[in-house]
Amino acid sequence: MQIRENFSLRHLNTFGLDQRARFFTEVHSLEQLKEALNWSKEKGLPVWILGGGSNVLLTKDLEGLVLKVGIKGREVIEENELEVLVTVGAGENWHEFVRFAISQGWGGVENLSLIPGTVGAAPIQNIGAYGVEIKDVFHRLEAIDKDSAESLIFDHEACAFGYRDSFFKREGRNRYVICYVTFKLSKTPVYNLSYGTVEETMHELGHVEPSLIAVSEAISFIRRQKLPDPAKLGNAGSFFKNPVITSQHYQSLKEKYPTLPGFPFDGGMKIPAAWLIDQGGWKGKRWGTVGVHERQPLVLVNYGSGKGRDIVHLSQTISNSIKEKFGVLLEAEVNHW
Ligand SMILES: Cc1cc2nc3c(=O)[nH]c(=O)nc-3n(C[C@H](O)[C@H](O)[C@H](O)COP(=O)(O)OP(=O)(O)OC[C@H]3O[C@@H](n4cnc5c(N)ncnc54)[C@H](O)[C@@H]3O)c2cc1C
Repeated sequence: MQIRENFSLRHLNTFGLDQRARFFTEVHSLEQLKEALNWSKEKGLPVWILGGGSNVLLTKDLEGLVLKVGIKGREVIEENELEVLVTVGAGENWHEFVRFAISQGWGGVENLSLIPGTVGAAPIQNIGAYGVEIKDVFHRLEAIDKDSAESLIFDHEACAFGYRDSFFKREGRNRYVICYVTFKLSKTPVYNLSYGTVEETMHELGHVEPSLIAVSEAISFIRRQKLPDPAKLGNAGSFFKNPVITSQHYQSLKEKYPTLPGFPFDGGMKIPAAWLIDQGGWKGKRWGTVGVHERQPLVLVNYGSGKGRDIVHLSQTISNSIKEKFGVLLEAEVNHW
């Protein structure tokens, strides 16, 4: 185990924020992970678990150990003619895993193509896109308790998945290191083309019949058009969750703003945060070194030299203005460190 000191995290977070870790290490096995956890425990240091850094906002230098999970590997643990259970190391790149599944003819994750980050972080906020969430293909995961270094299995129920939410964002927050995730994928895929312009785009790209590759290519194409590439412009994808409001609140807003979109969700109505931010006049607004993306108002961007606190300030100002105008509370999707 190699421990680095005073380590810049600039290239390890997609906002490109230049904060430092007092100590940094990357672990590639359960043994190395336990060794690193013991080391920090002996020193009484807090530990931050890092994957691909595509859903974190670094607001300060971190006076502890930043531990990057680099556990790799893929293994089929069970299969029949219809399904396959595949266990994947938490440090594997998510999109590489999606590509691998497609190459094997396994369906279930193709709609989640091109989401940045690692396999281990995917269950934490129950990543989702184009009508599919990880909970739809999740079987179980193996995690290490940060305090006791004990290994635990979490099944679907224990993860208590919700919209961009799970046990690991609530009661289990900062308590576990996810090491392996097992997915149940289908050998007879059913394509989910209902969301947005997936089907049209598939045809535009020359695919006559749906296939895993066709769906993945269409979704990747749409995502590249819509979202800024973090390699060129620092961002962490959607900064806010889509708020869920009561049906009464929705009706009263709809009377005032007839174009307000809404989708029934959990007994209330889910409304697009992007629409609210756009109507609030924030789309494309520059705020010094940070700002709101010109095509996708849900994405806050760092033009290069921005600080985490600038992004916090901008996000709070946006939230306050949305609260004032619509009476709706925006909740951050990105984890603040
Ligand atoms: C351009 C862009 C587009 C995006 N699009 C989407 C989208 O469509 N849908 C979506 O849901 N998300 C999207 N995201 C957000 C992000 O990709 C996901 O949240 C992703 O799962 C984060 O993975 P990561 O490895 O980068 O996690 P990190 O940013 O490294 O970590 C995120 C959180 O998970 C914790 N964590 C990470 N790994 C582990 C582990 N092994 N064990 C325990 N805790 C861990 C961290 O402590 C942190 O709290 C997007 C981000 C970007 C930049």
